Amino acid sequence: MSPLRIPAEVLAAVVAHARAEAPYECCGLLAGSPDGRVGLHFPIRNDLASPTEYLTNAHDLLAAAKAVRSAGAEVLAIYHSHPTSAPVPSTRDVAGNHWGDSVVHLIVGLAGPEPDLRAWHITEGGYEQAEWILAGR
Ligand SMILES: [Zn+2]
Repeated sequence: MSPLRIPAEVLAAVVAHARAEAPYECCGLLAGSPDGRVGLHFPIRNDLASPTEYLTNAHDLLAAAKAVRSAGAEVLAIYHSHPTSAPVPSTRDVAGNHWGDSVVHLIVGLAGPEPDLRAWHITEGGYEQAEWILAGR
């Protein structure tokens, strides 16, 4: 699987979203081309408004999915934030994953002085780190 390639402006928007929602977790969707390049960013409301878990708002998710389809793009990643813990999938993140293992989970960790972004493949029984890189123009 090719690494997720995230342009700087999308990265900045994701981090800004995470900071804006803190102390709650944020969530959203990244879409783009099959080679892993992200071109579209959709913030999604967290229905749980919780500092330790998230639930993607169904209406927002549907609207994002439609926009992805009409742009001829595909869903590449789901992201959410961990406001006070390491950007490693929680037990709940693994149990609640209904995206299969083709969609990368990007987690924004805000516990340290700088945002820490890590990508993961979540499988049925666990997770393994995925690759993401900063994409040039
Ligand atoms: Zn999480």
